[in-house]
Amino acid sequence: MSWQGIVKHYIDFFSIDEKNIITLLEGNTPLIPSVCIGKSFERPINLFFKYEGLNPTGSFKDRGMTYAISKAVESGSKAVICASTGNTSASAAAYSARAGLKCIVLIPEGKIALGKLSQAMIHGAKVIQIKGNFDDALKIVKEISEKYPITLVNSLNPHRLEGQKTGAFEICDVLKNAPDYHCLPVGNAGNISAYWMGYKEYRSCGKINSLPKMLGFQAEGSAPIVRGYPIEKPETIATAIRIGNPASWDKAVKARDESGGLIDMVSDDEIIKAYKLLAEKEGVFCEPASSASVAGIIKLSERGFFQGGETVVCTLTGHGLKDPDNAIANSEKPSSIEPNISDILKIIGL
Ligand SMILES: *Cc1c(COP(=O)(O)O)cnc(C)c1O
Repeated sequence: MSWQGIVKHYIDFFSIDEKNIITLLEGNTPLIPSVCIGKSFERPINLFFKYEGLNPTGSFKDRGMTYAISKAVESGSKAVICASTGNTSASAAAYSARAGLKCIVLIPEGKIALGKLSQAMIHGAKVIQIKGNFDDALKIVKEISEKYPITLVNSLNPHRLEGQKTGAFEICDVLKNAPDYHCLPVGNAGNISAYWMGYKEYRSCGKINSLPKMLGFQAEGSAPIVRGYPIEKPETIATAIRIGNPASWDKAVKARDESGGLIDMVSDDEIIKAYKLLAEKEGVFCEPASSASVAGIIKLSERGFFQGGETVVCTLTGHGLKDPDNAIANSEKPSSIEPNISDILKIIGL
């Protein structure tokens, strides 16, 4: 049978009446073997990229949103609300449009990648930009959803993490077991918690017989979990993880500790270096936040963390087209000349 989206495909791991499922056939994203980065290490590893940019709205948020919106419909909700660094709003707007729900999104003004903003707008969400950051926005939407009949679809909504756990299922289905390590960027810390839940559920039902060590990476300017305190004014070029007080802080620490993994940080320079390496040497275009996972693996390898031969999966959380400004700012500018063959040959170097 053709792919029917994550909730139907893994229906035994969910609790919903199938007729209420709102889906854009998200999930079933490719697990791409690395051809360069993993092999270039002093002690090479078996590296894979879980390319979540190929979900319907271009990020992993669709896994959580299909279930959160389906459950909102099931409970009779007419409207949803979220705070977002961009991708949650894009996904909430698309799934709400499909479900016929009203969607309200709060975003930090000027700190959201252009592609994401355009998605929320075109799907007809009520977009409110606030002169504040994600953490400020989250506080407000939490309060509104507690007082009014509007469903919160941030990852505080447990259905989001339930949906996102299916990323782990898919990886195990392809590898026929769990990887040794699973690495991902950490913002609001929902996804690392969701993957850990997914791996544990898969082991409980005998689909895999081991668990990965979870590796999370924050950006240096937005690294509350690493530093051990909330960051008042988080900063990073990777806007999707520009979060100073993650909602799933405790869950992420639990995932780290139960799995024997770690949560560390990488600089914006390291993030951009990995972002370009992925695009130039692997042919994979992801957004800057996504490449924090790969920047982290590179950093660990340089510290002699790996023995060599381990299977490591990095989740590439969102598509590079989300953030065209950063792609252009970090690439060589195209030359612009008259349509003259000899000048063009000179530029090509012929
Ligand atoms: C949401 C998001 C993250 C952060 O995920 P959390 O679950 O908030 O930790 C990372 N990268 C991208 C592209 C995202 O959209």
